[in-house]
Amino acid sequence: MDIRVELTKNPKAKPTDESNLGFGHVFTDHMFIMNYDKGQGWHDARIVPYAPLELSPAAMCLHYAQEVFEGLKAYRTADGSVQMFRPEENFKRLNISNQRLVIPEVDVDFCIKALDKLVSIDKDWVPHTDGASLYIRPFIIAVDPFLGVRPADSYMFIIILSPSGAYYSTGLNPVGIYVESNYVRAVRGGMGFTKTGGNYAASLIGQDEAHKQDYSQVLWLDGVERKYIEEVGAMNIFFIIDGEIVTPELQGSILSGITRKSVLELCKSWGMKVSEKRISIQEVADAYDAGKLNEVFGTGTAAVISPVGKLKWGDKVMIINDNKIGEVSQKIYDTMTGMQYGKLEDKFGWIHKLEG
Ligand SMILES: *Cc1c(COP(=O)(O)O)cnc(C)c1O
Repeated sequence: MDIRVELTKNPKAKPTDESNLGFGHVFTDHMFIMNYDKGQGWHDARIVPYAPLELSPAAMCLHYAQEVFEGLKAYRTADGSVQMFRPEENFKRLNISNQRLVIPEVDVDFCIKALDKLVSIDKDWVPHTDGASLYIRPFIIAVDPFLGVRPADSYMFIIILSPSGAYYSTGLNPVGIYVESNYVRAVRGGMGFTKTGGNYAASLIGQDEAHKQDYSQVLWLDGVERKYIEEVGAMNIFFIIDGEIVTPELQGSILSGITRKSVLELCKSWGMKVSEKRISIQEVADAYDAGKLNEVFGTGTAAVISPVGKLKWGDKVMIINDNKIGEVSQKIYDTMTGMQYGKLEDKFGWIHKLEG
Protein backbone atom coordinates (compact mmCIF):
# COMPACT_ATOMS: atom_id res chain seq x y z
CA MET A 1 0.00 0.00 0.00
CA ASP A 2 1.30 3.43 -0.94
CA ILE A 3 1.25 6.26 1.55
CA ARG A 4 -0.09 9.51 0.15
CA VAL A 5 1.53 12.62 1.65
CA GLU A 6 -0.11 16.00 2.01
CA LEU A 7 2.19 18.47 3.76
CA THR A 8 0.85 21.30 5.87
CA LYS A 9 0.79 24.80 4.38
CA ASN A 10 0.83 26.32 7.85
CA PRO A 11 3.64 24.77 9.88
CA LYS A 12 3.30 25.54 13.58
CA ALA A 13 6.01 27.23 15.63
CA LYS A 14 8.04 24.57 17.45
CA PRO A 15 8.36 24.87 21.21
CA THR A 16 11.36 27.05 22.04
CA ASP A 17 11.66 25.99 25.68
CA GLU A 18 12.00 22.20 25.73
CA SER A 19 12.19 22.15 29.52
CA ASN A 20 8.55 23.23 29.69
CA LEU A 21 7.07 20.65 27.33
CA GLY A 22 5.56 18.40 29.96
CA PHE A 23 3.81 15.33 28.58
CA GLY A 24 1.16 15.09 25.88
CA HIS A 25 0.23 18.74 25.41
CA VAL A 26 1.92 19.65 22.14
CA PHE A 27 1.39 17.92 18.78
CA THR A 28 3.44 18.03 15.60
CA ASP A 29 2.41 19.24 12.14
CA HIS A 30 1.34 15.90 10.69
CA MET A 31 -0.44 12.64 11.47
CA PHE A 32 -0.81 9.27 9.80
CA ILE A 33 -4.27 7.90 9.05
CA MET A 34 -5.60 4.78 7.33
CA ASN A 35 -9.12 3.42 7.15
CA TYR A 36 -10.56 -0.05 7.37
CA ASP A 37 -13.82 -1.11 5.84
CA LYS A 38 -15.29 -4.58 5.85
CA GLY A 39 -14.67 -6.29 2.51
CA GLN A 40 -11.94 -3.78 1.64
CA GLY A 41 -9.40 -4.18 4.44
CA TRP A 42 -7.04 -1.37 5.46
CA HIS A 43 -6.86 1.28 2.75
CA ASP A 44 -6.23 4.93 1.95
CA ALA A 45 -3.01 5.29 3.98
CA ARG A 46 -2.04 8.94 4.18
CA ILE A 47 0.06 11.47 6.06
CA VAL A 48 -1.91 14.70 6.40
CA PRO A 49 -1.74 17.94 8.41
CA TYR A 50 -2.58 17.42 12.11
CA ALA A 51 -6.22 18.48 12.51
CA PRO A 52 -9.44 17.54 14.31
CA LEU A 53 -11.16 14.41 13.02
CA GLU A 54 -14.56 14.34 11.47
CA LEU A 55 -16.53 11.69 13.32
CA SER A 56 -20.22 10.86 13.62
CA PRO A 57 -21.58 11.43 17.14
CA ALA A 58 -22.83 7.86 16.77
CA ALA A 59 -19.30 6.51 16.10
CA MET A 60 -19.16 3.20 17.96
CA CYS A 61 -15.88 3.92 19.80
CA LEU A 62 -17.56 6.82 21.60
CA HIS A 63 -20.25 4.58 23.06
CA TYR A 64 -18.82 1.11 23.56
CA ALA A 65 -15.09 1.84 23.83
CA GLN A 66 -13.95 -0.40 20.96
CA GLU A 67 -10.51 1.22 20.84
CA VAL A 68 -6.86 0.22 21.32
CA PHE A 69 -3.65 2.20 21.53
CA GLU A 70 0.13 2.04 21.86
CA GLY A 71 2.85 4.28 23.25
CA LEU A 72 6.52 4.54 22.26
CA LYS A 73 9.15 7.20 21.74
CA ALA A 74 11.66 8.55 19.23
CA TYR A 75 14.95 9.75 20.69
CA ARG A 76 17.52 12.15 19.30
CA THR A 77 21.13 11.02 19.61
CA ALA A 78 24.21 13.22 20.04
CA ASP A 79 24.95 13.17 16.29
CA GLY A 80 21.45 14.50 15.55
CA SER A 81 20.03 11.25 14.20
CA VAL A 82 16.71 9.84 15.41
CA GLN A 83 16.02 6.33 16.69
CA MET A 84 13.33 4.25 18.38
CA PHE A 85 13.31 1.42 20.89
CA ARG A 86 11.84 -1.92 19.74
CA PRO A 87 8.94 -0.39 17.75
CA GLU A 88 8.00 -3.75 16.21
CA GLU A 89 7.10 -4.92 19.73
CA ASN A 90 4.54 -2.14 19.99
CA PHE A 91 2.76 -3.09 16.77
CA LYS A 92 2.85 -6.77 17.67
CA ARG A 93 1.23 -5.89 20.98
CA LEU A 94 -1.29 -3.70 19.15
CA ASN A 95 -2.38 -6.83 17.28
CA ILE A 96 -2.75 -8.73 20.57
CA SER A 97 -5.04 -5.93 21.79
CA ASN A 98 -6.84 -5.92 18.42
CA GLN A 99 -7.57 -9.61 18.68
CA ARG A 100 -9.16 -9.25 22.14
CA LEU A 101 -11.27 -6.28 21.07
CA VAL A 102 -12.29 -7.86 17.73
CA ILE A 103 -10.53 -5.16 15.73
CA PRO A 104 -8.87 -6.17 12.42
CA GLU A 105 -5.12 -6.73 12.69
CA VAL A 106 -2.55 -4.43 11.13
CA ASP A 107 0.59 -5.36 9.19
CA VAL A 108 3.52 -4.79 11.55
CA ASP A 109 6.08 -4.06 8.79
CA PHE A 110 3.75 -1.62 7.10
CA CYS A 111 3.10 0.19 10.41
CA ILE A 112 6.86 0.60 10.95
CA LYS A 113 7.19 1.95 7.42
CA ALA A 114 4.34 4.41 8.01
CA LEU A 115 5.78 5.48 11.37
CA ASP A 116 9.26 6.00 9.87
CA LYS A 117 7.79 8.15 7.14
CA LEU A 118 5.73 10.23 9.58
CA VAL A 119 8.61 10.76 12.00
CA SER A 120 10.94 11.66 9.09
CA ILE A 121 8.52 14.34 7.94
CA ASP A 122 8.23 15.77 11.48
CA LYS A 123 11.86 15.02 12.38
CA ASP A 124 12.59 18.60 13.44
CA TRP A 125 10.01 18.15 16.22
CA VAL A 126 12.13 15.49 17.97
CA PRO A 127 13.47 17.39 21.00
CA HIS A 128 17.19 18.07 21.36
CA THR A 129 17.35 18.24 25.15
CA ASP A 130 18.76 15.22 26.95
CA GLY A 131 15.94 13.16 28.41
CA ALA A 132 13.27 14.74 26.21
CA SER A 133 11.75 12.73 23.36
CA LEU A 134 9.02 12.54 20.75
CA TYR A 135 6.16 10.52 22.21
CA ILE A 136 4.37 8.41 19.58
CA ARG A 137 0.73 7.46 20.01
CA PRO A 138 -0.72 4.97 17.50
CA PHE A 139 -4.41 4.12 18.07
CA ILE A 140 -7.39 2.49 16.40
CA ILE A 141 -11.02 3.52 16.84
CA ALA A 142 -14.31 1.96 15.68
CA VAL A 143 -16.10 4.56 13.57
CA ASP A 144 -19.36 3.04 12.24
CA PRO A 145 -22.24 5.41 12.98
CA PHE A 146 -24.34 2.79 14.76
CA LEU A 147 -25.75 2.37 18.26
CA GLY A 148 -26.14 -1.40 18.22
CA VAL A 149 -23.64 -3.50 20.12
CA ARG A 150 -21.39 -5.58 17.83
CA PRO A 151 -17.84 -5.36 16.49
CA ALA A 152 -17.66 -2.44 14.05
CA ASP A 153 -17.22 -2.78 10.27
CA SER A 154 -15.17 0.44 9.91
CA TYR A 155 -12.11 1.65 11.75
CA MET A 156 -9.50 4.38 11.66
CA PHE A 157 -5.84 3.76 12.53
CA ILE A 158 -4.10 6.99 13.45
CA ILE A 159 -0.61 7.93 14.63
CA ILE A 160 -0.03 11.28 16.34
CA LEU A 161 3.27 12.63 17.68
CA SER A 162 3.87 14.73 20.79
CA PRO A 163 7.23 16.24 21.77
CA SER A 164 7.56 15.61 25.48
CA GLY A 165 9.91 16.83 28.19
CA ALA A 166 12.32 14.83 30.31
CA TYR A 167 10.41 12.69 32.79
CA TYR A 168 13.01 13.42 35.40
CA SER A 169 14.32 16.95 35.36
CA THR A 170 16.00 16.72 38.76
CA GLY A 171 17.36 13.16 38.86
CA LEU A 172 15.36 10.00 39.55
CA ASN A 173 13.03 10.97 42.35
CA PRO A 174 11.39 8.01 44.07
CA VAL A 175 7.58 8.02 43.99
CA GLY A 176 5.05 7.10 46.67
CA ILE A 177 2.65 4.31 45.74
CA TYR A 178 -0.67 3.42 47.31
CA VAL A 179 -1.81 -0.21 47.33
CA GLU A 180 -5.47 -0.31 46.29
CA SER A 181 -7.44 -2.95 48.19
CA ASN A 182 -10.97 -1.86 47.33
CA TYR A 183 -11.23 -1.24 43.58
CA VAL A 184 -9.76 -3.54 40.95
CA ARG A 185 -8.44 -2.65 37.50
CA ALA A 186 -8.83 -5.90 35.58
CA VAL A 187 -9.50 -9.59 36.02
CA ARG A 188 -8.28 -12.64 34.18
CA GLY A 189 -10.51 -13.20 31.17
CA GLY A 190 -11.04 -9.44 30.89
CA MET A 191 -8.90 -6.92 28.99
CA GLY A 192 -6.06 -6.33 31.46
CA PHE A 193 -3.41 -7.64 29.07
CA THR A 194 -4.45 -5.20 26.33
CA LYS A 195 -3.75 -1.51 25.90
CA THR A 196 -7.28 -0.19 25.69
CA GLY A 197 -8.92 2.94 27.07
CA GLY A 198 -11.42 0.96 29.15
CA ASN A 199 -8.68 -0.29 31.48
CA TYR A 200 -7.68 3.29 32.14
CA ALA A 201 -11.30 4.38 32.72
CA ALA A 202 -11.57 1.62 35.35
CA SER A 203 -8.39 2.81 37.05
CA LEU A 204 -9.17 6.53 37.42
CA ILE A 205 -11.05 6.22 40.70
CA GLY A 206 -8.11 4.44 42.34
CA GLN A 207 -5.74 7.11 41.07
CA ASP A 208 -8.04 9.78 42.45
CA GLU A 209 -8.03 8.07 45.85
CA ALA A 210 -4.23 7.78 45.81
CA HIS A 211 -3.86 11.49 44.97
CA LYS A 212 -6.18 12.44 47.84
CA GLN A 213 -3.82 10.60 50.17
CA ASP A 214 -0.78 12.27 48.59
CA TYR A 215 0.48 9.23 46.72
CA SER A 216 1.27 9.60 43.05
CA GLN A 217 0.18 6.18 41.74
CA VAL A 218 -1.76 3.03 42.52
CA LEU A 219 -0.49 -0.51 42.88
CA TRP A 220 -3.29 -2.86 41.84
CA LEU A 221 -3.97 -6.22 43.42
CA ASP A 222 -5.60 -9.20 41.70
CA GLY A 223 -9.34 -8.88 41.18
CA VAL A 224 -10.29 -12.19 42.77
CA GLU A 225 -8.49 -12.50 46.08
CA ARG A 226 -7.11 -8.94 46.33
CA LYS A 227 -3.88 -10.48 47.56
CA TYR A 228 -1.52 -10.83 44.63
CA ILE A 229 0.36 -7.95 43.07
CA GLU A 230 -0.53 -6.96 39.53
CA GLU A 231 0.91 -3.65 38.28
CA VAL A 232 0.90 0.12 38.67
CA GLY A 233 -1.40 2.38 36.58
CA ALA A 234 0.78 2.52 33.48
CA MET A 235 3.84 0.62 34.71
CA ASN A 236 4.83 -2.91 35.55
CA ILE A 237 6.32 -3.43 38.99
CA PHE A 238 9.57 -5.04 40.15
CA PHE A 239 10.82 -5.92 43.63
CA ILE A 240 14.34 -6.81 44.66
CA ILE A 241 14.00 -9.17 47.60
CA ASP A 242 17.16 -10.46 49.21
CA GLY A 243 19.07 -9.83 45.98
CA GLU A 244 16.54 -11.57 43.71
CA ILE A 245 14.63 -9.57 41.09
CA VAL A 246 10.96 -10.48 41.18
CA THR A 247 8.06 -9.31 39.01
CA PRO A 248 4.49 -10.64 38.73
CA GLU A 249 4.08 -13.26 36.01
CA LEU A 250 1.91 -12.51 32.95
CA GLN A 251 -1.36 -14.29 33.63
CA GLY A 252 -3.87 -12.33 31.57
CA SER A 253 -4.80 -9.37 33.74
CA ILE A 254 -1.59 -7.31 33.47
CA LEU A 255 0.05 -5.67 30.49
CA SER A 256 3.12 -7.24 28.95
CA GLY A 257 5.32 -4.14 29.08
CA ILE A 258 8.13 -3.80 26.56
CA THR A 259 10.22 -2.11 29.25
CA ARG A 260 9.40 -5.03 31.60
CA LYS A 261 10.51 -7.54 28.98
CA SER A 262 13.70 -5.58 28.27
CA VAL A 263 14.57 -5.21 31.97
CA LEU A 264 14.18 -8.97 32.44
CA GLU A 265 16.43 -9.67 29.45
CA LEU A 266 18.99 -7.11 30.60
CA CYS A 267 19.17 -8.40 34.20
CA LYS A 268 19.48 -11.99 32.95
CA SER A 269 22.36 -10.93 30.70
CA TRP A 270 24.07 -9.50 33.79
CA GLY A 271 23.76 -12.88 35.49
CA MET A 272 21.27 -11.62 38.05
CA LYS A 273 18.70 -13.91 39.58
CA VAL A 274 15.32 -12.93 38.09
CA SER A 275 11.93 -14.55 38.41
CA GLU A 276 8.44 -13.95 37.10
CA LYS A 277 6.02 -15.34 39.64
CA ARG A 278 2.89 -14.79 41.64
CA ILE A 279 3.77 -12.58 44.60
CA SER A 280 1.42 -11.40 47.33
CA ILE A 281 1.48 -8.01 49.02
CA GLN A 282 1.88 -9.92 52.31
CA GLU A 283 5.15 -11.45 51.05
CA VAL A 284 6.41 -7.96 50.18
CA ALA A 285 5.44 -6.66 53.64
CA ASP A 286 7.13 -9.67 55.29
CA ALA A 287 10.31 -9.08 53.27
CA TYR A 288 10.18 -5.44 54.34
CA ASP A 289 9.84 -6.36 58.01
CA ALA A 290 12.74 -8.80 57.68
CA GLY A 291 14.88 -6.05 56.15
CA LYS A 292 15.07 -7.94 52.84
CA LEU A 293 13.11 -5.59 50.58
CA ASN A 294 16.09 -3.99 48.84
CA GLU A 295 14.52 -2.03 45.99
CA VAL A 296 11.15 -1.47 44.31
CA PHE A 297 10.68 0.11 40.88
CA GLY A 298 8.11 0.54 38.15
CA THR A 299 8.90 0.07 34.44
CA GLY A 300 7.25 1.75 31.46
CA THR A 301 8.04 3.72 28.31
CA ALA A 302 7.31 7.10 29.92
CA ALA A 303 9.75 6.95 32.86
CA VAL A 304 11.75 3.83 31.86
CA ILE A 305 12.46 3.17 35.56
CA SER A 306 10.50 4.80 38.34
CA PRO A 307 11.97 4.06 41.77
CA VAL A 308 9.39 3.54 44.53
CA GLY A 309 10.43 5.15 47.81
CA LYS A 310 7.22 4.66 49.73
CA LEU A 311 4.58 1.94 49.59
CA LYS A 312 1.35 2.25 51.58
CA TRP A 313 -0.78 -0.85 52.21
CA GLY A 314 -3.65 -0.25 54.62
CA ASP A 315 -2.09 1.35 57.68
CA LYS A 316 1.38 0.10 56.87
CA VAL A 317 3.79 2.53 55.24
CA MET A 318 6.99 0.98 53.91
CA ILE A 319 9.94 3.29 53.26
CA ILE A 320 12.15 1.58 50.71
CA ASN A 321 15.92 2.05 50.53
CA ASP A 322 15.69 5.22 52.63
CA ASN A 323 13.43 6.76 49.94
CA LYS A 324 16.43 6.87 47.59
CA ILE A 325 17.02 5.26 44.22
CA GLY A 326 18.66 1.83 44.57
CA GLU A 327 21.88 0.73 42.95
CA VAL A 328 20.28 -1.82 40.62
CA SER A 329 17.45 0.54 39.61
CA GLN A 330 20.02 3.20 38.72
CA LYS A 331 22.14 0.76 36.72
CA ILE A 332 19.13 -0.44 34.72
CA TYR A 333 18.00 3.13 34.10
CA ASP A 334 21.46 4.24 32.94
CA THR A 335 21.80 1.26 30.61
CA MET A 336 18.34 1.50 29.05
CA THR A 337 18.46 5.27 28.51
CA GLY A 338 22.09 4.97 27.36
CA MET A 339 20.94 2.66 24.55
CA GLN A 340 17.86 4.74 23.74
CA TYR A 341 19.87 7.95 23.32
CA GLY A 342 22.67 6.18 21.46
CA LYS A 343 25.31 6.68 24.16
CA LEU A 344 25.77 2.96 24.80
CA GLU A 345 26.23 0.14 22.35
CA ASP A 346 23.04 -1.76 21.51
CA LYS A 347 24.09 -5.35 22.13
CA PHE A 348 20.53 -6.69 21.91
CA GLY A 349 19.40 -5.31 18.55
CA TRP A 350 16.72 -3.19 20.23
CA ILE A 351 17.43 0.08 18.44
CA HIS A 352 15.60 1.02 15.24
CA LYS A 353 17.35 3.83 13.43
CA LEU A 354 15.32 6.22 11.34
CA GLU A 355 16.62 6.23 7.78
CA GLY A 356 17.33 9.54 6.11
C1 LIG B 1 1.74 0.81 28.59
C2 LIG B 1 1.53 0.16 29.91
C3 LIG B 1 2.60 -0.37 30.66
C4 LIG B 1 4.05 -0.21 30.26
O1 LIG B 1 4.34 -0.84 29.05
P1 LIG B 1 5.67 -0.43 28.22
O2 LIG B 1 5.55 -1.23 26.98
O3 LIG B 1 6.81 -0.81 29.06
O4 LIG B 1 5.58 1.04 28.02
C5 LIG B 1 2.30 -1.04 31.83
N1 LIG B 1 1.03 -1.16 32.27
C6 LIG B 1 -0.02 -0.66 31.57
C7 LIG B 1 -1.38 -0.85 32.10
C8 LIG B 1 0.19 0.02 30.38
O5 LIG B 1 -0.85 0.52 29.72
